[in-house]
Amino acid sequence: MGNFDHNYTVCDDFGVKELKCMCCGAQIGGRTYTEVPSRTNPAVMEKVMTYGYHSNIRFKEIELSDNSVAQIMICQDCVNESIDKDKVMNQIKVAWEDECTKSGLSADKIKKHKDRIKDLKILKVATEAFTSAKVREK
Ligand SMILES: [Zn+2]
Repeated sequence: MGNFDHNYTVCDDFGVKELKCMCCGAQIGGRTYTEVPSRTNPAVMEKVMTYGYHSNIRFKEIELSDNSVAQIMICQDCVNESIDKDKVMNQIKVAWEDECTKSGLSADKIKKHKDRIKDLKILKVATEAFTSAKVREK
């Protein structure tokens, strides 16, 4: 099935536009627009930009070598695929760099960030998958 060889985020000037399965590349989320009633005049519908996950998204927790915990995102068809730790780590680094660059950080800050994640490795991938992101206290 998947090969973990693509970028799992598609960014534009406003940030992440599209989110893809890290394994096979199927779309699992992205920016979308929803209509909500205006606060001042509920009879009027306003278009609001939201960031949504599709129903096929699954999350798996990973442990990184700096003792932090992160989550990878895959589609429901890939929940039982074995996770290529090195390739996934690389995907995460590329996505972080992309986000950093697009968010307008200074070259100095980007370099510091790059240095910090350069040697990061995935130690463990949870076997259990979740249908929604777990919110953790830091
Ligand atoms: Zn997939």
